[in-house]
Amino acid sequence: PPDVEQLGRSTWTLLHSIAATYPPRPTPKEQSDIKDFMRLFSKLYPCWVCAEDFQSYVEKKEVKAGSREEFGNWLCEAHNEVNRKLGKPTFDCSKWEERWRTGWKD
Ligand code: FAD
Repeated sequence: PPDVEQLGRSTWTLLHSIAATYPPRPTPKEQSDIKDFMRLFSKLYPCWVCAEDFQSYVEKKEVKAGSREEFGNWLCEAHNEVNRKLGKPTFDCSKWEERWRTGWKD
């Protein structure tokens, strides 16, 4: 089985990068695509214990996909939920775009 930590880091990079390129004003099709993607992703994620918890999270907190900002924040909150579960510090979601889209200024 894949290394859960390595897999996690790469996967968050992929997911936040998808959010960073998600349109500011998505079409209805783009919105349903991202929701389908997240639902299938949570089923197929190859860390089974992780996937189980993430699936219940996605069911409980429906994917917000009305804009890049909305989806980016939803994903940041989802990542924070995992951070809390693992006892990691939570991330300030107001810095999400700076971290994943526009880049740190320093
Ligand atoms: P990561 O959490 O991988 O984060 C990578 C980088 O993202 C950080 O360095 C930081 O710059 C940035 N970041 C951190 N928080 C946020 C945020 N909220 N929003 C935006 N950016 C942020 N591991 C388990 O052991 N058990 C699990 O149940 C589990 N569930 C997971 C579920 C999913 C869907 C995913 C993708 C991963 C899961 N993992 C799980 C892996 C875990 O989340 C971490 O990826 C792994 O522990 C490595 O952590 P890390 O400290 O390197 O940083």
